[in-house]
Amino acid sequence: MKKKKKKMRKKKMNVYENVCQQFNKAADLMHLDPDVRNILSKTTNEIVVNFPVRMDDGKIDMFTGYRVQHNSVLGPYKGGLRYHPLVDINEVRALATWMTWKSAIVNIPYGGAKGGIQFDPTKCSFGEIQRITRRFTFALGCNIGPEYDIPAPDVNTNAQIMAWILDTYLSTQPPHERQRSTHVVTGKPVEAGGSLGRDKATGQGVVFCIEQWAKDTKFKLKGATYTVQGFGNVGSWAAYLMKRHGSKLLAVEDVSGAIRNQNGIDADDLIAYVQKTKGVKNYPKAEPISHLDLFKTKADIFIPAALENQITAETVRFLRVKVVAEGANGPTDIDGDVSLWRRNIDVIPDILCNAGGVVVSYFEWLQNKRSEFWDLGEVDTKLHRKMIDAYQRVRDTAKASKTDWRTAAYIVALRRLETVYRERGIFP
Ligand code: NAD
Repeated sequence: MKKKKKKMRKKKMNVYENVCQQFNKAADLMHLDPDVRNILSKTTNEIVVNFPVRMDDGKIDMFTGYRVQHNSVLGPYKGGLRYHPLVDINEVRALATWMTWKSAIVNIPYGGAKGGIQFDPTKCSFGEIQRITRRFTFALGCNIGPEYDIPAPDVNTNAQIMAWILDTYLSTQPPHERQRSTHVVTGKPVEAGGSLGRDKATGQGVVFCIEQWAKDTKFKLKGATYTVQGFGNVGSWAAYLMKRHGSKLLAVEDVSGAIRNQNGIDADDLIAYVQKTKGVKNYPKAEPISHLDLFKTKADIFIPAALENQITAETVRFLRVKVVAEGANGPTDIDGDVSLWRRNIDVIPDILCNAGGVVVSYFEWLQNKRSEFWDLGEVDTKLHRKMIDAYQRVRDTAKASKTDWRTAAYIVALRRLETVYRERGIFP
């Protein structure tokens, strides 16, 4: 038991260490201003709240929640909320820092933040999750706000949870503030002020990147094969949209297990199955495979859309794909990155590839502020433009700086932040 705990701690440390190493590599290569480097190497605020919740059995449990605000020089803090037993301060620091880079790459006026609560929502009832969410929102108080720090969904959180946060936040505001504060969260249900296209936005952004990669490399998506790790919001939408290109889904893994069918798995059918059963396990039209078999499945494209540190030196050995399109945040560790580079496997890095979510969150925020409601075509067209612009900036920077795409993505972000710091200076 002790050994297991130690191993887990090591894994969690590594996520933030990954961010620091990625940052240092890019900062060295681009000769980032030392003062800006110093500022960006630290988070701005780290809020840890312990709060009580009455559970269904009548007893009170204590929960620990986090909100880390990395940087706000480009605009209000922005980033998701994760409910997971492995959430800890290092993971949230890492995710918050990645959000700063992401907003800078896609050129939206946001800073970076992230939050989470350390618990397993699959072990809680609907009512318990609602009470945990509302107490967490209350505990955060004015550490979030529509013009200050705006949460959104992430792993194990969704539109329903955003609606509870919205309702709790508004209930604690003076009456005259309530009508103009709906943009305190994004990823809300459409009826409660959400945007059309936000649910699919991250998966859609991943597929826009894959389309551009295919165009650049003269690769045909029709008939192409792919595998997906994680079949939640990001993974299932990516699969749904890849099907519309005529690509064939060969294997999928989620927390319940992994499955494969060399003749192809119908994404729509698997989505309907997972909605009922909550996992891909026992899907009748595919065979069960092991975790490593997912990596060993030969395909053109691999879409990791689950958790961090999945692509390591160990697992890259088995990968037989042309490109990794990172839907998840931080799916590749430092050694995994080196191995992908050595093996000549293309990587569309997370801070570019999964930025579609924050882009449409920004569109939702704008619609709320302006009391507008855009149609899906408008959202998709604007998202496409943002993603392709960012993709091209990263691609051109990789070429000009003779570096890998992850480092290039960092350089794009850091240049923008450096310019703003240079223009604004540091108070006093
Ligand atoms: P989700 O909760 O909807 O889905 C997570 C999926 O990962 C589930 O299918 C789950 O079963 C699977 N999973 C969990 N642990 C696993 C394990 N050990 N092995 C295999 N599969 C596992 O979450 P999501 O919103 O789809 O987020 C997935 C990833 O995408 C995360 O890294 C998240 O930070 C990132 N992301 C999400 C968004 C968004 O808009 N939701 C935006 C940007 C990035």
